[in-house]
Amino acid sequence: MNPLRSLILAAARNGTIRRLVATAPVSRDVVRRFVAGETTADAVAVTRRLVQDGLTVTLDYLGEDTTDTAQAERTVQAYLDLLDRLHAEGLADHAEVSVKLSAVGQMLDEDLALANAKRICQAAEAAGTTVTLDMEDHTTTDSTLRVLAELRRTWPWVGAVLQTYLHRTLDDAKRLSAEGSRVRLCKGAYKEPETVAFADKTEVDKSYVRCVNALLAGDGYPMFATHDPRLVRIVDERAEAHGRKPGSFEHQMLYGIRPDEQLRLAQQGHTVRVYVPFGEEWYGYLMRRMAERPANTTFFLRALATRG
Ligand SMILES: Cc1cc2nc3c(=O)[nH]c(=O)nc-3n(C[C@H](O)[C@H](O)[C@H](O)COP(=O)(O)OP(=O)(O)OC[C@H]3O[C@@H](n4cnc5c(N)ncnc54)[C@H](O)[C@@H]3O)c2cc1C
Repeated sequence: MNPLRSLILAAARNGTIRRLVATAPVSRDVVRRFVAGETTADAVAVTRRLVQDGLTVTLDYLGEDTTDTAQAERTVQAYLDLLDRLHAEGLADHAEVSVKLSAVGQMLDEDLALANAKRICQAAEAAGTTVTLDMEDHTTTDSTLRVLAELRRTWPWVGAVLQTYLHRTLDDAKRLSAEGSRVRLCKGAYKEPETVAFADKTEVDKSYVRCVNALLAGDGYPMFATHDPRLVRIVDERAEAHGRKPGSFEHQMLYGIRPDEQLRLAQQGHTVRVYVPFGEEWYGYLMRRMAERPANTTFFLRALATRG
């Protein structure tokens, strides 16, 4: 792993650094570039702005690795509140939610996570929108796909996420490419052992392209989540080769990353969905974004230095 990436991920686990960053006033501004804010109102305001710009949205309430039921319950309530607000504000047509099963109790008990995810799916159905289950580290993949299969028995629109750094993913992509199946394809954001994942970036990219073809060849609705300009181009070329019309697949990017490219793709007639995180637990998310791209870290440190 890149040494800077390891350093930042280590900082993410360091309590002192965490407190320093979380309480520095300037953090607010920097965090706001990648995170909508701490409250539901912040999330709704950012969603409205993005929708006005012709984009669609998936909202993630930040909070993961929950190890107590009370915290899992707070997360469920945050989603129920958010879905209510999206419906009330007329935004549910353009905004769905992304849920991490670890935030609703997967580490405590898979059945608890399933029961909590069902409550969120029910609320999404009532609001007139959909849910995508984020994918976390490889030890949770089978459990998450089991929960997905169970949820899809009632709500076939529940979206899956597949990570192309995992050796297993092409098989999963073929299995999940049937009609109506919503699948987000991403490279993968966790530190994984070589026994299960490609270590080499080029291999991860090649795996991405193989999965693009598998998903486009099927009858499902693929959602291509990447900021990588080369892969965005390949997705569009392959979509055309497979006879896919705009609207039968979508591009996805993270809030604050390549915003001009998001608008450009939308102006070309593509569906573009922006992944918008919000909530008080923004620290771990922010550190993962920093670790992915040194330029983001430079931006952060420069902002701290100029205000210091
Ligand atoms: C919508 C969405 C949902 C996601 N959901 C999950 C999930 O459920 N589980 C999971 O494990 N991961 C998820 N991820 C994260 C994903 O797995 C990657 O870690 C992350 O997207 C970085 O990979 P990349 O494909 O963008 O390419 P990278 O390999 O990080 O970058 C490739 C190229 O993209 C361009 N680029 C990247 N970042 C920037 C930037 N800040 N500014 C300008 N250019 C840039 C550069 O040209 C760079 O060389 C999600 C990502 C997105 C976009």
